[in-house]
Amino acid sequence: MPFSDSFSKKHLVFDGGMGTMLLSAGLPAGASPDVWNITNPDAVRAIHAAHLAAGADVITSNTFGSTVPRQKRGSYKPAELAAAGVRLVKEAIQASGKTAYAALDIGPLGEFLEPLGDLTEEEALDYFREPIEAGVSAGADCILIETMSALDEALVCVKAAKAYGSGLPILCTLTYSPAGRLMTGEPIEAVVSALEEAGVSGHGCNCGVGPEQLVALLPRFVACATKPLIMQPNAGLPVYQDGQTVYLVGPEAFAVEMQQLASGGIWGLGGCCGTTPEHIALLARLAAE
Ligand SMILES: [Zn+2]
Repeated sequence: MPFSDSFSKKHLVFDGGMGTMLLSAGLPAGASPDVWNITNPDAVRAIHAAHLAAGADVITSNTFGSTVPRQKRGSYKPAELAAAGVRLVKEAIQASGKTAYAALDIGPLGEFLEPLGDLTEEEALDYFREPIEAGVSAGADCILIETMSALDEALVCVKAAKAYGSGLPILCTLTYSPAGRLMTGEPIEAVVSALEEAGVSGHGCNCGVGPEQLVALLPRFVACATKPLIMQPNAGLPVYQDGQTVYLVGPEAFAVEMQQLASGGIWGLGGCCGTTPEHIALLARLAAE
């Protein structure tokens, strides 16, 4: 079933946080999670399997940092990491016997484009090209650009996905403050209009805030969007405890807030940092009601 068929569904359940799950599986702080696609594939596959068992319809590859700027000191090429990441998703889906989609995850480069930084648009397009081509060849069903906090970078990434993504549907989610602005200052309304003009199939927000903050921002998204909306909040706002970042909204409270987003018209529902397969399992149950 092509991914485009899913746009006619009332809701699509995305999976939960990968980075925080890998940290609890023993990934050393500061290490590249993407490298585990090659050095510890069982751990990555197990997280995908848990999200499939929880009822997720979309499984996101562990390829957030599979780009040259984020792998400068690594010994693997971004293309190898991206291809391995998509393969692990497909293997987990096949092993589960379920029907689910493999989303190729593309994260921000970690550098600013000109004039804020030194990165040129040509360089950024080239950096995004590598994981996109490799992930699409490995069999991704859609491209999920996520955790973008700068609008210019998100738009360059959409451009790369259109140029090198073999026509796969492009989804793009950005990270907003509780006041509904990107780090670079643009409000929801400006971002939504720029993304829709750029030709994405669906868009919305992920990371940064919890579901409660998104419930407050929901009317603004619904008022200006014409494409399917996706919301993948963290398990609450980050809290610093004993030198660590923790997320304290549990599965039940999370699912209750997510139900408000579902009934308010959000199509794609999932989680980001601090969410677990338990969060997704409850969310999937509520979305099915
Ligand atoms: Zn996150």
